[in-house]
Amino acid sequence: MTTYRNFIDGAWTDSDSGDLFENRNPADRDDLIGLFQKSTRADMRRAIDAAHRAYPAWRLVPAPRRAELLFRAAQLIAERKDLLARDMTREMGKVLAETRGDVQEAIDMTFFIAGEGRRQYGQTVPSELRDKFAMSIRQPVGVCGVITPWNFPMAIPSWKIIPALVCGNTVVLKPAMLTPLSAVNFVKILEEAGLPRGVVNLVTGSGDDVGAELTAAPQVGVVSFTGSTGVGRSVAVDAAPSFKKVHLEMGGKNVIIILDDANLELAVDGCLWGGFGTTGQRCTAASRVVVHEKVYRAFLEQFAARARRLTIGDGLDPSVQVGPLVSQGQLDTVTRYVQIGIAEGARLVAGGHPLSTGTHAKGCFHEPTIFADVAPAMRVAQEEIFGPVVSVIPCASYDEAIQIGNGVQYGLSASIYTQDVNRAFSAMRDLYTGIFYVNAPTIGAEVHLPFGGTKATGNGHREAGTAALDVFSEWKSVYVDFSGRLQRAQIDTADL
Ligand code: NAD
Repeated sequence: MTTYRNFIDGAWTDSDSGDLFENRNPADRDDLIGLFQKSTRADMRRAIDAAHRAYPAWRLVPAPRRAELLFRAAQLIAERKDLLARDMTREMGKVLAETRGDVQEAIDMTFFIAGEGRRQYGQTVPSELRDKFAMSIRQPVGVCGVITPWNFPMAIPSWKIIPALVCGNTVVLKPAMLTPLSAVNFVKILEEAGLPRGVVNLVTGSGDDVGAELTAAPQVGVVSFTGSTGVGRSVAVDAAPSFKKVHLEMGGKNVIIILDDANLELAVDGCLWGGFGTTGQRCTAASRVVVHEKVYRAFLEQFAARARRLTIGDGLDPSVQVGPLVSQGQLDTVTRYVQIGIAEGARLVAGGHPLSTGTHAKGCFHEPTIFADVAPAMRVAQEEIFGPVVSVIPCASYDEAIQIGNGVQYGLSASIYTQDVNRAFSAMRDLYTGIFYVNAPTIGAEVHLPFGGTKATGNGHREAGTAALDVFSEWKSVYVDFSGRLQRAQIDTADL
């Protein structure tokens, strides 16, 4: 059995604790993938110190040179795409086509952001005074703490680490305990690409210990966190006393709206992919579908019939469409929410049960599940379940659909199916989310546009796109006076 180590100051090292945790395949709990370090706060402090020591030299490496290492890393990820995807399916369950997509997202992001090594544009503006030059430049923040969830085990670390590095910061990564192997694989590639010692560090272990230590550490200049809203709130609180920058990407309860003129077949395709892709474990998953009453019955029949036909099983099997939940805990959450939905009076029209016999006996499987006639205030329509459960809600008008769409605490992604361009543009304006789709489901973001959400999904930052640079750098405005005399802005205004 392989034991994996932390990566601190350029060396793969054991934790002080001497304790390890297991990483098991959720499609087959007998399959033990490896043992990982259950690290201590002291391990985390050593990693932060290493990143702190590496920062002064790394910050002075010209950004295009830093980017060359990142281009090399992107190339290495591309060469190993299939192996990396297989490891990921084995450790977290989603089907191979999707883990290949996850790795591809890391490749795309790394190539895209490496290009920023030669851009990172600032502004050059005319000064209001004679013989004076005015511009803004980006400067790095220092040590970046990166805390990531298990559902995109390589894509999400890449969204944070690569922009942090291109801006000249050093990094400490704390990945989710359910997906440490993909984090190790990613960091090994960065090491192989030639990053200097201490520039990237990896510490595995529990959020309450090593995650909280990273968040609170005074030497850390920015914490970038993706995970649940509850934990995000505690990250914000822990980070507040040291006034560090905090970037939070949190939960979602995303909506697909289907109007009476929608192409229903296309809408059903979108709801299946949006609701049950990644077994519903995407922050952008379409867990609510709001359908105009004129097409409600027809939509529901097709949607339920097709959901019942989805093949559930081990994601390594190419014929499987829906993999397991990531863990027994996640399966228990889904089972509990199905009971809550039934107790609230929602009508179960597909699925509703865990699968525990035959090929499903050793894994964390659950049927794709659809509730119909859901009222917008029900818990299954309000709370993030993070599993293959979709709530279908009837509506009588566009206005009502928008009201239901916006009527949750989250604001990540929304979509509308309609042939009416006026309605599509109105919805684009009226739904208060960070991401919006027309005639496509709520999932499918591309790396070169900003990604993030409003309300309880985010705290105003965005990752991906060039917006990512704003998280990992700070603006410095620079004035160069070459007049040889004292000039006073806003005061010496008479001199034309
Ligand atoms: P989680 O909040 O349980 O954990 C996320 C990370 O935080 C893990 O690495 C965990 O160990 C760490 N952590 C836990 N407690 C901590 C603490 N006190 N201090 C510091 N770190 C701590 O989330 P999860 O179950 O891994 O992921 C699922 C959640 O992530 C869902 O809510 C989903 O919506 C969200 N998510 C959001 C996005 C987005 O971009 N908005 C993307 C993917 C997932």
